[in-house]
Amino acid sequence: MIEPNLIYSVVCLASAVLAFSLGFLSFWNHRFVSYARPLGFLLLFCGIYAFGYGFEIMKVDTAWFFLWLRVEYFGIAFIPFAFLWTSMAFTRIPRTGQRKWLMLFWGLALLTLVAVLTNEYHHYYYASIGIDGRGLFPVAALGRGPLYVAHAVVFVLVFFIGTFFYLLYYRRVEASFRSRAIAPVVAGGMSLGGFLIYVLRLIPWELDIGPSLVTAGGCLIAWAIIRAGFLDISPIARHEIFESMLDGVIVTDPLGVVVDFNPAVHEIIPGFSREWLGKSLGEVVPNLGTYSFPSVSFDIRPFSVRKGEETRFYEVRKIPIQGKKGRVIGTAWYLRDITERYRHFEKLREQAEKDELTGIWNRRKWTELAWAEIERARRYRRPLALLFLDIDHFKVVNDTVGHKGGDVVLVEVVRTIELELRVNDLFARLGGEEFAVLLPEVDEGKAWAVAERIRQAVEGKVIRFGKHSIRVTVSIGIAVWEEGIPALPELMHQADLALYKAKELGRNRVVTSIPGWLPPPQKGRDRSVRRVYRVRKDDQPS
Ligand code: GH3
Ligand code: MG
Ligand code: MG
Repeated sequence: MIEPNLIYSVVCLASAVLAFSLGFLSFWNHRFVSYARPLGFLLLFCGIYAFGYGFEIMKVDTAWFFLWLRVEYFGIAFIPFAFLWTSMAFTRIPRTGQRKWLMLFWGLALLTLVAVLTNEYHHYYYASIGIDGRGLFPVAALGRGPLYVAHAVVFVLVFFIGTFFYLLYYRRVEASFRSRAIAPVVAGGMSLGGFLIYVLRLIPWELDIGPSLVTAGGCLIAWAIIRAGFLDISPIARHEIFESMLDGVIVTDPLGVVVDFNPAVHEIIPGFSREWLGKSLGEVVPNLGTYSFPSVSFDIRPFSVRKGEETRFYEVRKIPIQGKKGRVIGTAWYLRDITERYRHFEKLREQAEKDELTGIWNRRKWTELAWAEIERARRYRRPLALLFLDIDHFKVVNDTVGHKGGDVVLVEVVRTIELELRVNDLFARLGGEEFAVLLPEVDEGKAWAVAERIRQAVEGKVIRFGKHSIRVTVSIGIAVWEEGIPALPELMHQADLALYKAKELGRNRVVTSIPGWLPPPQKGRDRSVRRVYRVRKDDQPS
């Protein structure tokens, strides 16, 4: 008949082999998953513990016991901290400063190990080593010293904290992810239970059920994580699709933490490296979510990355990753280079919205923007003014310097006018040498001042073309928006009438169509007042 101690020994050794295998699998995957490395260590330490105990109980001999006990402590001393480390990496609690705590824990674990290895010189850890023959088979009976008690207290505390983090995680994540936290909590409870049964001597026999329980717990955590689908991505599929894709793929867990990415991401986002695994995607690539398709259209600039002189544009797609039974277990962020497409689009849009010669708005786009401005002015009861401008005797300019020269004059006049405008003003070429400026937040008085400034600036500008020095003037008609005339065509009609009057009165002047309004008096010889001509609404060009 097989001795009972050998049966338990085989159980422990089998646990060890299982823990080592799963640990190895975890290490294998640690490049891809932030918590795979701590999990690998946890399983490795569990394996060492079970492995040592499996040998310890094979033979009844105190020297043999103590030899294997020392081996076990290469696992036992580190298990609680590896458990906590896994918990911290998995739950991301605390969010920052994890490294500091982990250093402290590893220090404590090392001290425990040293205390056990040097026990024969101080006997502070184990006061005595004997044999307990009360049970099914003889096991080591260990007299507990003060360091042993201290270690037991820390062990229990650390397991409690690690389990507590899983519980916090459980509370924080959506219902569909909660099952992932249950297994670690059960594992923590089992390990702690086994340890307490042993430490508190709840069974009157010194058999340590820890090795099998702790190992079983570690395997349970591994199973839970593997089941979540993070460790078992087929290496072949990975290599073929994921690794060689030109599109970037970033994988985040339910909390938005980066758990994986492909080499393309490294090319797309400079600085994106393995260091960023385990970090929140929102922290390392801010605002990526705001670019995600399909909520974003081409009207908004896509996600862009500057690379030296060049800016590349990317379409961002956010795709939920579903695990078994359709549960969402993470998110894949696809980054596709759309630079050429977007540049082409921008060019088309520019052609559709801007005047080719001068680069300012064309009539179509300006009308669209102007409608929106008038709607805004109406809603918030804000003032708004419209200027119509026409270059005086432009035919003469064309006749003198040719069409090319005329084009240069048009561009220079536009540049001159632009200098007098604010960024919010809507400046357009309506056609030929006729322009419109919509001035939001501008009342009669200010509109007059702006128009007069423009008139003087153009008048004072000397434009050079070949050996010619050209001077031109503009006539300007003003219309001011008020409650009674809400529509754009009406406003444009009034500005047109005012412009017509300005031409009629001799050109190079500003005319306003506000009934009864006069510009503020100015010092000295006031040319501008002389230029005022009040245009009534019923005035018609003859
Ligand atoms: P007025 O003072 O009454 O405005 O006299 P005008 O000569 O400016 O008369 P009008 O506005 O009718 O003439 C516009 C001229 O502008 C006619 C056309 O040859 C010229 N023109 C229109 N578009 C362009 C352009 O893109 N380039 C050039 N060089 N000339 C243009
Ligand atoms: Mg003209
Ligand atoms: Mg004209």
